[in-house]
Amino acid sequence: MVRLISLAVLACLASVPARAQGVLNLYCSVQIEWCQAAATNFQRETGIRVNVTQRGSGETLAAIRAEAQNPRGDLWFGGTGDPHLAAAEENLTQAYESPHAGQLQPWALAQHRQSGGRAIGVYAGAVGFGFNSELLQRRGLAPPRSWADLVDPRYRGEIQVANPNSSGTAYVIIATLVQLMGEDRAFAYLRELHPNINAYARSGTGPIKAVARGETAISLSFVHDAVTEKNAGFPVGWTTPTEGTGFEIGSMSILRGARNLAQARRFYDWALTVEAQRLGFDIGKQLQTPSNRAAPLTEGAPDLTVIRLIDYDFARYGRSAERRRLIERWDREIGALP
Ligand code: PLP
Repeated sequence: MVRLISLAVLACLASVPARAQGVLNLYCSVQIEWCQAAATNFQRETGIRVNVTQRGSGETLAAIRAEAQNPRGDLWFGGTGDPHLAAAEENLTQAYESPHAGQLQPWALAQHRQSGGRAIGVYAGAVGFGFNSELLQRRGLAPPRSWADLVDPRYRGEIQVANPNSSGTAYVIIATLVQLMGEDRAFAYLRELHPNINAYARSGTGPIKAVARGETAISLSFVHDAVTEKNAGFPVGWTTPTEGTGFEIGSMSILRGARNLAQARRFYDWALTVEAQRLGFDIGKQLQTPSNRAAPLTEGAPDLTVIRLIDYDFARYGRSAERRRLIERWDREIGALP
């Protein structure tokens, strides 16, 4: 679902004459609450009017491709790193050197290097299993601990994951399995898993929200989102697979042909500050690992240093042709299954 939020109305809240500062068309691929918090605060601080379009990472990449001859967005904030790398390779985004780059974690700068300066890391998060502990208990099921557990027939129809065409999260999961098992075994695994999947959701955040609402017992999602739901009072827990798991470098890119380039650069610089990164939690209730080294990891947030992470090959799985090929294979072999 595309969400358009005109924040023009907020201009009147600020004492700054917003129109004089211009406009920023923000394509946003984090959760809507964070998108709104970022837009509202940036607008309040700078007087720049922000129009937000929120979509999943895959959907945003598709929109940017479709609009390449006539770009409508200025800056793409958030979403998994692979599609940002694909956009860089396809010359859909432009290089920028922020004066704040020196404050960032090495993985955030690695994303910058890998993209030829066209994308930068804003946050990181690990893939894992979210579960509704009440629902599992009622069904007499234990939470899954491993990728091997997940295909157990006892979980038939109990698991939800997203569709990689629209969701960056789902693509990270497929790329993770390919790296853990090899490609053919990963697709055989996904076929074996299929009877346990009750829906391939559009957005990567859909499955964990379905877990929180009690609509599905288990989700494959970023584990920081499970903590957000738990903190909101839902009976949600999370685990990460014992065999190892993949992770994302949530990224930001300025679009090629951005009509509001000065405003886009200002937002880019602002989004890398400690204050802006704290907003993700303080207002958006998000618990990713922030990329600014001085931004603290929120208490209770998943600590990536103690999770068994694979050495995710961003160069390979962020390549446009590889991404397309794996998603097309998923469409043929998994998406088409009854
Ligand atoms: N929301 C959060 C909190 C995320 O960490 C991410 C990944 O970057 C997304 C949304 C991306 O969602 P999708 O899988 O729909 O692209």
